[in-house]
This record gives sequence, C-alpha cells and structure tokens, in this order.
Amino acid sequence: MTAGSSANAVGATHAPPTALTIAGSDSGGGAGIQADLRTFFACGVHGMTAVTAVTVQNSLGVEDFAEIPANVVTAQIRAVTGDMGARAAKTGMLATAEIITAVAKTLGDVGIGRDTAVPFVVDPVAASMHGDPLLREEALEAIRTELLPRATLVTPNLDEVRLLTGIEVTDAASRGAATDALLALGPQWVLVKGGHDTGPRCVDLLSDGTTHVELDGPRHDTPHTHGGGDTLASAVTASLAKGADVPTAVREGKRFIERCVADAYPMGGGIGPVSPFWRLDTEA
Ligand code: PLP
Repeated sequence: MTAGSSANAVGATHAPPTALTIAGSDSGGGAGIQADLRTFFACGVHGMTAVTAVTVQNSLGVEDFAEIPANVVTAQIRAVTGDMGARAAKTGMLATAEIITAVAKTLGDVGIGRDTAVPFVVDPVAASMHGDPLLREEALEAIRTELLPRATLVTPNLDEVRLLTGIEVTDAASRGAATDALLALGPQWVLVKGGHDTGPRCVDLLSDGTTHVELDGPRHDTPHTHGGGDTLASAVTASLAKGADVPTAVREGKRFIERCVADAYPMGGGIGPVSPFWRLDTEA
C-alpha cells in the first residue's frame, strides 16, 4: 500500500472478541497452545499467544521441553494486551516458578484477573496424561500463592486437585473439602473436573463458595482424549471473551468438550486428540 492510499476496510467493523492463552507448544498439535488456538477459532474468538515452553512430543508422550525466558513470556503478554487488548485470558503449561511469578505480576500490571474487567482462567497443568511432567516440582507453590489469588476460575482435574491441596477426592465429602481448600487459595470460582474419575457419567462441580453447580455429562469410551483439559479451559475462556458469566461459560465449555471427545480421532501410535472440527462442519 502506498502512503496516502486508503486501506481496504472490508471486515474492519466486525473484529471478533480477543482471547489470550499463556501456555506451552505441543509439537503434535493436539494440546497446549495448538489446542487453545483451534478451540478459540472454532468458538469464533481471535486467539493471541504468549508461549511459555516448547515441548517435544507426539501421540506417544512428551520427550523433552525447553522453557522460554520469563522476560520473553511477559513481553508477549504486554505486546498483545497493550495493542490489541484481551477480553479474557487463560494459562496452561507454565513450566517454572520463575515464569509463574513473572506472569502473575504482569497480569496484575495489565489489569487481567479476578476483580478486573478481564476474566482469567487458570488450568493448573502439571503433567501430561502419559504422566510426563510439564511443571517443575517447586513451581506448584507459585501456582498456589501467586497465580490462584488472581484467577477468576481454576479448572483442576482430580490429579491436580491432589497436587494443589493434598486431598484425594473419592466421594462427595472429599470433593467438597477439596473445593473449599482451593477456594481458600484465592480464586473466585473453582471447577473440579471429574473426567479422570471412573463411572458412566462425567460429573464436574463448579463453586464460588455460595453457588454450587453440578455439571453432569456422558463419559465417552475413547482412549483419545489428548488436549481435553486445554480444550475445555479454552472453550470456557472463549465464552468469557464473548461476555458470558462464569456459570454460563462453564456450561457452554462443557457442551463443547463433550462433542470434542465424542469426535476425537486416532493419530499416531498413542493417544489421539479431542477434536473441535465438528463445530466447523456446516453439514452437521
Ligand atoms: N502438552 C502441553 C503443551 C500441554 O499444555 C498439555 C496440557 O495442558 C499437554 C501436553 C498434555 O495434554 P494431555 O494431558 O491432554 O495429554
């Protein structure tokens, strides 16, 4: 375009809402940043990224990862929020305590998190479903003390509940105790996911200490659930970016992930990814 010529303005008036994911790259494309971006796209949200780590992985597991320097992670957050603005944000794999501390401070500086206009979802990723660590051990304390007090919503699975609270969820009483223990760490809402539980139904519990919502859905019999946690958290974040309140966003996210699990496909010799492609199939 030459100086003085006018830009083509087609589309300029209907930019989609923006959402930011602060997470790790999955070279296999099914989890992490890649899952977040395809979910944001399928949900009609413009996704922006602050990459925290690059994993070396495929359907068989995570072979290695290298973290991105903390100042580069926070520079990505500042670059996109300062220019494009984020209507909601989420974290996934954060790799180290240093990155968590830097991200928490930066989110405070740019006005993202509970008690601000920009909701913030923490998916407290600690390990892959193969059991490969995605978080250095000492970093759990930084999630507890620095990240969770800023969270609008935290979305642990039962393994992450145990790591964060020391409570093994086995029944309704221990699930209630774990929810209370998580709320005491400072997030506004807690979603304890039942996906790693057993039984024919997949029951999640959402609570802010006053309102308790039980979300009950079918359990699909598939080994291919890679990226399921990331996809749920990013679908919830997309709904929040579009203006939904937390209970509505979680209901919408749950409906979304149910279809993605039902549609999951095999890929490689191990665990295949959940799939948001159903959303793009106009014949469906
Ligand atoms: N890789 C990255 C970068 C992730 O962020 C995650 C989960 O958040 C995983 C792998 C693990 O995904 P899953 O537990 O679904 O295999």
